Formats: sequence, C-alpha cells, structure tokens
Amino acid sequence: MRDNPIVPSVDFDADGVQHGFLKLPHSADDSAWGAIMIPITVVKNGTGPTAVLTGANHGDEYEGPLALWNLARELDASRVQGRVIMVPAMNYPAFRAGRRSSPIDDGNMNRVFPGRPDGTVTEKIADFFTRTLLPLSDYVLDMHSGGKTLDFVPFACAHVLDDATQQARCVAAMEAFNAPYSLMLKELDAADMYDTAAEQAGKVFVSTELGGGGSASARTTAIARRGVLNFLEHAEIVDGEPERGPSVWLDTTDARCFVTAEHSGLLEMRVDLGDEVTAGDVLALVHDVERTGTAPVEYRAGIDGILAGRHYPCLTRPGDSLAVVGEKVR
Ligand code: ZN
Repeated sequence: MRDNPIVPSVDFDADGVQHGFLKLPHSADDSAWGAIMIPITVVKNGTGPTAVLTGANHGDEYEGPLALWNLARELDASRVQGRVIMVPAMNYPAFRAGRRSSPIDDGNMNRVFPGRPDGTVTEKIADFFTRTLLPLSDYVLDMHSGGKTLDFVPFACAHVLDDATQQARCVAAMEAFNAPYSLMLKELDAADMYDTAAEQAGKVFVSTELGGGGSASARTTAIARRGVLNFLEHAEIVDGEPERGPSVWLDTTDARCFVTAEHSGLLEMRVDLGDEVTAGDVLALVHDVERTGTAPVEYRAGIDGILAGRHYPCLTRPGDSLAVVGEKVR
C-alpha cells in the first residue's frame, strides 16, 4: 500500500515533551502547495505503555479538545512512564469549521476507517491513525460529545466485543475514566469506526459522550480533564491512583433503547437527561408546525431506564435520533 502523505514534525521515539504537527499536504485555492497542520503533542519518558488520546473526531464536540489542550500544556515528562500521544482535534478541518464533518470533503471521521492513503483528506487522516498511531498504542481514548444535534448525560463507554478478555480490559479502563455514567454500547453500525479499528487491532479502547449541543460546560469539561488523568493512571503511564466517584452503569444493547423520529416538527421533551423513566412513559411530543389545533405525536420509552441522550435542537425530522434510554444495570 502507498505511504501515507502525512509527515509528523515530532519524533515518536524521543524522550521529553514535543509539541508539533501532523503535516498533511493539501493544495487548495487559498493556499497552493499548502498543508493542513494538525496539532500533536508527544510526552515520552523511558519504556512503558503508550496511550493515544484524541478529541474532535467530530469537529463540534469540545470536552475532548479542552481536556487535551490543557493536558498537552501541563503534563511533565517526569510524571510519565511510557508515552502519551495527544491529537486534541483529530478531524482538524472539521474542528476549525465548527462542524461535525470536514468542510473539505464532507468526511465524517468516524465513518471512514480504516481510511486510505490515496483517499480524501479525512480518509488520509484516518489511514495515518490506522497504520501509524494505532500500532504504536496500547491504550486508546477517543473523547466524543453529542455535537450540535445531540446531548448526553456524561458517560464513558465500552463495546460488547467477541474477545471476552479484551472486553474486560476495556470495561476496566472505562470504569477508571470514572464518568458519572458508564455505558455498555452496541453500535448501530460499527463498520468504518475508529472504535472498531482500535478494537480489531487488539487495543484497550474507551470512548465517551460527555455532553453536547455544540458547546461544553464547566462540569463536563472537568469530567473530561479528570477522566483523561484517571485513564492514564489506570494504564500506569502516569503515577497516581484514579479517582473513584460514583458512576451509574447503563446498558444500551437492546434496540428499544433508541427512539428515532418519524415525524417533522417542534420537539417538546417531557423528561430531561438523567431522569428515570418507565416503559410506556412519554419521552417527547412532536407538534405539527404547519398548523395549530392538532394533537402532537407521542414518543414513548421502550424500556425502563434513564434518559441518557436526546436530540438537542427543538426542531426535528424523520430519522433524527430523538432519545436514548439506558437500562440501569447498577
Ligand atoms: Zn462524536
């Protein structure tokens, strides 16, 4: 296969703290012979495991970038045994545009894995992760939030995997991240995801959804900052013990957890994130926006649980992810 065109300005084998770029050649109208300069920080000290930490896999999700911009500035090499590779804004063009997907090629980073060295800009970045960064890694943390169209209770998540031993290691790392909620996730469509590429490469992989709405609160940012440190301490890359606070365990492996809109209209939530619901409870109403005087459509919970996610804008249309109910496990 062709070499990836991305050239890192950092040396992954050098001890110390390095702040640099993944330089991706991109000749465009506004910059002939130019390049996309994706910030990267590597902190290495001696031998030990490697963690690859990412944010803004989707460009409008901010807790991950905030946690990693802070960590990149603060993490001293003397506190590290092994290596921490941080890419705070994985889909950098999308991040700069404040969009979920790239303005260059409309690429949704988490739907183009394993990527291609001769593909679109987004596919080239994915290929660099698949063939260069993932092989260097032992522990992989990819921090998401809901972006502009979704909002979530802050959770870390692990996937149901075929390999029980690997799943147990991922679950232990999810638990160490210690978000207020911990969630077992069965993806609706796992093909083409970074998660799947990391898991198939045998890595300990944790993802998150830490909020949403296209912004970040003080609370969710603090959860991300502490969670990253917890994750690195769990991996024994950074000295210290992960903080252990209470976390509600949720399961979303039942298809009835996911409520999809079938109508266009004005969305009225009847429960809020974190609220307990019983099967049959009305989660939301959708009002017909073309006329007054008609009854709204009711959307009900399919199972008992907690409202873990919701469509964020108050306008909705068929196909929107309206609500996610997590089954409370413990
Ligand atoms: Zn995301």
